[in-house]
Amino acid sequence: MTATPDSATPPAAHRVIEPLYAEILRRNQGEKEFHQAVREVLETLGPVLAQRPEFVDARIIERICEPERQLIFRVPWSDDSGDIHVNRGFRVEFSSSLGPYKGGLRFHPSVNLGIVKFLGFEQIFKNALTGMPIGGGKGGSDFDPKGRSDAEIMRFCQSFMTELHRHLGEYTDVPAGDIGVGGREIGYLFGQYKRITNRYESGVLTGKGLGWGGALVRTEATGYGCVMFTAEMLRSQGDSLDGRRIAVSGSGNVAIYAIEKAQQLGATVVTCSDSDGYVVDEKGIDLALLKEIKEAGRGRVSEYAERRPEARFVPGTGVWSVPCDVALPCATQNELHEADALALVRNGVKAVAEGANMPTTPEAVRVFQEAGVAFAPGKAANAGGVATSALEMQQNASRDSWTFAHTEERLAEIMRHIHDSCYTTAERYGSPGNYVVGANIAGFELVADAMLAQGLI
Ligand code: NDP
Repeated sequence: MTATPDSATPPAAHRVIEPLYAEILRRNQGEKEFHQAVREVLETLGPVLAQRPEFVDARIIERICEPERQLIFRVPWSDDSGDIHVNRGFRVEFSSSLGPYKGGLRFHPSVNLGIVKFLGFEQIFKNALTGMPIGGGKGGSDFDPKGRSDAEIMRFCQSFMTELHRHLGEYTDVPAGDIGVGGREIGYLFGQYKRITNRYESGVLTGKGLGWGGALVRTEATGYGCVMFTAEMLRSQGDSLDGRRIAVSGSGNVAIYAIEKAQQLGATVVTCSDSDGYVVDEKGIDLALLKEIKEAGRGRVSEYAERRPEARFVPGTGVWSVPCDVALPCATQNELHEADALALVRNGVKAVAEGANMPTTPEAVRVFQEAGVAFAPGKAANAGGVATSALEMQQNASRDSWTFAHTEERLAEIMRHIHDSCYTTAERYGSPGNYVVGANIAGFELVADAMLAQGLI
C-alpha cells in the first residue's frame, strides 16, 4: 500500500511523502490501524509541505510519526474466584510539543500496540486543534470488562495503575476514559494513584466524579461537541439540524450524549447500536430508557426493543442501511465501510461526523467526499471531549469549579473555533469544504511550528 497524496499535492511533495510512508510501514510492521491513521494524514499534507519546506528539512513528519515514548507492561490480577489473569497494559506518549501527554485509556480485548498508536497519533492533531495546551498520548489494555464484577474491575484498575503511576503527573501525562473506561474506572484508577503517590493531584486524570475534582459537561462533552460541530457544518451551508433525521451508531458515552444534544437541537435520532446489533425507533430514541439500560444497568440495546414496542432490534449488523439526513458513527474504528457509505448516499445523507475515532474506512470517506456530503473527521468532530478535559485540568489547577452553562458555552466556542479553523485552512490550501484536509493541516501546522521552535526534539 502507498500513501497517495491527493490531487492538490505538488509533485515535489509526492517525492517526500511516498518514501516516508514506506519507511513507516517497514518500522511498524503489523500495526494496520496505525498505518491507516498515518496514511490518512500524510495524503493531505502535500500542500503545506510545498509551502513550508522548513518542515521537510527539519524532518518533522519522521519525528511526529515516532512516539516520544512507548510503554508496555504486565497487569496481573485475580478474579472473584481467586483465579489469576495476566493482561497487557499500554501507554504511548506520542507528543509533548504543546503540553503534557493527554488522551484516554481503552479497556477492550481488541487493544494492541497498533490500536493504541493509531489513537495516540490522531490525538496529537486533535488536541492541537482544540487550541488548548495539551500534547498527545493514549493507552489501555486488552482487558475485557464485560461481565466482570465491580470488585474485579477495581482490582484490575489498581494493578494497572500500580505500574502506570510512575509515568503520570499533571505536568507529564494525564489520561482519561475511552471505550470500557468511564467514571467508575477513573475513580478506581485515581484512588490507587493517590494511595501510591500520597498526593491529591486532581489534574492527573480527567473524567473524575463531580464530588472529587471532576468537571460538569465532561461526561456529555464528546457527544455534545460532535453534534455542535455538525450544526456548524450545516450552518455553513445555510442549513440546520432542526427537523433532521439522524442515525447514530453505538450506545456508549459518546453515542448517548450525541443523541441528547441532537434531540435538544430539534432532530429525531432513529437508531443506536452495540456490538450485538442495532435498534431502529421511528418515533425517536427514548433517551431516558436508553440511559437506564446502558448507564445504570450496563445492559444491551436489544433490551431497548424488548421494552419499547415502537422499536425493532436488528441483530448482527450496523445501522447504516437506515435512511437519514445525518450520520454520526459513535462506536469504534472501521465500523462504516464503503458499502455503508454508498447506502447512506443513496438514501440522501447530507452530513457525516465522526463521534468515534476513525470509524469510517478510507474508501467510505472517498464515497462521501465524491458525493459532496459534508464529512467531519473524528480529530475535529470528537475533540470536544478532550477539550473539556483540558477545562477540567484548568479548574483543578485553580481549585475552582464552573457551572454547567458556563462550561457548555466554552465547549460550544471551542467547537466553533475548530470548525472555523478546519474550514478556513481547507480553503487556504486549495480544498474548500474538505474538513479532512483542513483538520489535518491545521493540527499539523500547530505541532510542527512548536517542534521547530523547540529544537531537535
Ligand atoms: P463506550 O465504551 O462508552 O461505548 C462504546 C460503544 O461502542 C458501545 O456501544 C460498544 O458496544 C460499541 N463498540 C465498541 N467496540 C465495538 C466493536 N468492536 N464493534 C461494535 N461496537 C463496538 O466508549 P465511548 O463512547 O467512550 O467511545 C466510543 C468511540 O468514541 C471510540 O472510538 C472512542 O475512541 C471515541 N472517543 C471517545 C471519547 C470520550 O470522551 N469517551 C473522546 C473522543 C473519542 P458494546 O457494549 O457491545 O461493546
